[in-house]
Amino acid sequence: MRLTVLGCAGSFPGPDSPCSSYLVEAEGFRLLLDLGAGSLSALQRFATLTSVDAIVLSHLHADHVLDACNYVVVRRYAPDGPYPTLPLYGPAGTAARLAAAYGEGPLDDVYEFRDLRPGTLHIGPFALTLDRVNHPVETYGMRIEHDGRVLTYSGDTAPCDALVRLAKGADLFLCEASYPDGEQNPPDLHLTGRDAGEVATKAGAARLVLTHLVAAWCSEANVFDSASAAFAGPVEVARSGARYEI
Ligand SMILES: [Zn+2]
Repeated sequence: MRLTVLGCAGSFPGPDSPCSSYLVEAEGFRLLLDLGAGSLSALQRFATLTSVDAIVLSHLHADHVLDACNYVVVRRYAPDGPYPTLPLYGPAGTAARLAAAYGEGPLDDVYEFRDLRPGTLHIGPFALTLDRVNHPVETYGMRIEHDGRVLTYSGDTAPCDALVRLAKGADLFLCEASYPDGEQNPPDLHLTGRDAGEVATKAGAARLVLTHLVAAWCSEANVFDSASAAFAGPVEVARSGARYEI
């Protein structure tokens, strides 16, 4: 499978990246993980806008979902549209939340809303194992498997056992690292680079890609160095446009 980072900025768009969004492809199937502000812009560099086959929203914080409203326009009002309804998986309440954000009635003509739950789910050629992680709203980390390979995406989370299980033996562990190491950070919200490195080590992941950095508030060197100190394998910081063959 192939992972393309569309957006990797945490909490609000950064100078060089949209908010969280990741394109995962295999066998011609295109799955979008999260759809934060600006991610539709990056998507157009890598795929036809309407060629998305399914969307999974890890949680409903604004920086992970708001371009799902803009995407309504793409599918509903396309000159050659409207396009068929698209499966959109999210926490309970996703349909109402996106409709409120869009501000003009239900979105069921565009999205086929499906609730996420802990467990295993098949979407196109992928098997997704989901579990609740440690964040103030209902949030899912996910382990995505295809053809014997494993991509794990943390979603937003503080340290938790579920994340270690989801990342066990992952070929690529895409893990949030929002906080500076060595500071008094609020509990039960996000990871530092060191936390991400420690989870990767416990899980025996092969490779760690750090994401959801908040460039305005925390130096990339802090996140990278603290993650590298805690994980012996290859570490890198996600960039909008980066692609990984997994
Ligand atoms: Zn969040």
